[in-house]
Amino acid sequence: MEKVALLRCEEYDIKLIEKKLREGFELLGGDKFLKDLIPYNSKVLLKPNMLSIEEAGSPVVTNFNVFEAVIRVLKDYSNNIAFGDSPGFGDSKKAAEKCGLLDVANKYNVKFEDFKDSIHVKFEDSILCKSWTVARAPYEADVLITLPKLKTHAMAYFTGAIKNQFGCIPGTLKATWHTRMPEANNFCKMLLDLNSLVKTSFAILDGIVAMEGNGPRSGKPKKMDTLIMGKSLTAVDSTAVRLIGYDNPLDIPALKEANDYKWGKVLPKDIQILGESIESMKVKDFELCRTGGNFYFISPGVTNFLRDLIAPDPILISEKCVSCKRCQEVCPEKPKVIKMINNKGKMQPTWNMKECIRCFCCQELCPCGAIETQYSMLGKILKMNKR
Ligand code: SF4
Ligand code: SF4
Repeated sequence: MEKVALLRCEEYDIKLIEKKLREGFELLGGDKFLKDLIPYNSKVLLKPNMLSIEEAGSPVVTNFNVFEAVIRVLKDYSNNIAFGDSPGFGDSKKAAEKCGLLDVANKYNVKFEDFKDSIHVKFEDSILCKSWTVARAPYEADVLITLPKLKTHAMAYFTGAIKNQFGCIPGTLKATWHTRMPEANNFCKMLLDLNSLVKTSFAILDGIVAMEGNGPRSGKPKKMDTLIMGKSLTAVDSTAVRLIGYDNPLDIPALKEANDYKWGKVLPKDIQILGESIESMKVKDFELCRTGGNFYFISPGVTNFLRDLIAPDPILISEKCVSCKRCQEVCPEKPKVIKMINNKGKMQPTWNMKECIRCFCCQELCPCGAIETQYSMLGKILKMNKR
């Protein structure tokens, strides 16, 4: 039975968050649990979610007060704490500066690690992926603690503790994984392998203000007052998705793959929830994002031709577009699926859907929320029949 601590935390107040985190660790086993997790003075790496360059307090990224409260708890166990991430777009130090994490880190002598410094490694015991280039800092850390945000995600439905480590792939190399793993099931197997490779040891999920709708960057903030902590990434994510409306955690591609490959506990019967109950913390009206995970509902007999008719497409909300071209820049395909064309005097993206792998990087990283995902009529009908 895997244990997770589910805590109610109603504000981004450092003292309150610190108190809740201490309560969470107490529920999980107190000082002994922490000493086992962090052998004295081991090299600890914190991995927040810094998806892109965002303002402090943005629901896109791990909140700076959660980050500070975590450091305040962990510094009793190690003087050797660092942090880092590789955003999907933009410079990581600028991202850390803008969202307030760098200031907090400097205050506590926590080192900033640039994930551009990478290492090539083989991983023979993987489910799928044996050869890797990963950021050196998470690979060489003794203890990797992930600090994800609770958000919707166009391809993976949900991003939390498992998906947060995709940022351990340096910079633009992330795009090559999308090209190599265009189907959600393989992409999720890759995420599980990546977590095994960097040995993610513990997760503290920031769901005080989560993100619903068109996540993981352009959705709406959703106050959930929630922190979830645990050693098992699958148990933390499984608990989180049950709070937002997935009664069956296997509806989430990464959790389905984890369950199929016996990579961590996923099913509610195998997870002991300490602290608050699921029922008391459930959000009734959370706006899910169910347009991705595209090949989960298509039978293996469906041809590529039919897949093109069924799979969801990125669509432009023309009035929100500011012609920045970022969608074209982040598209991993060669040649680019997106072309910028003149539409009534304004340069706007247009998609060659025959070549699109539906990774939704363009939707994820558009700075204006000008890209959403949408099923064709046939896709909608098939999806409805599946559920
Ligand atoms: S859709 Fe978004 S990313 Fe693409 S050009 Fe318009 S604003 Fe920029
Ligand atoms: S157009 Fe968008 S969804 Fe399609 S391959 Fe490029 S980034 Fe991915």
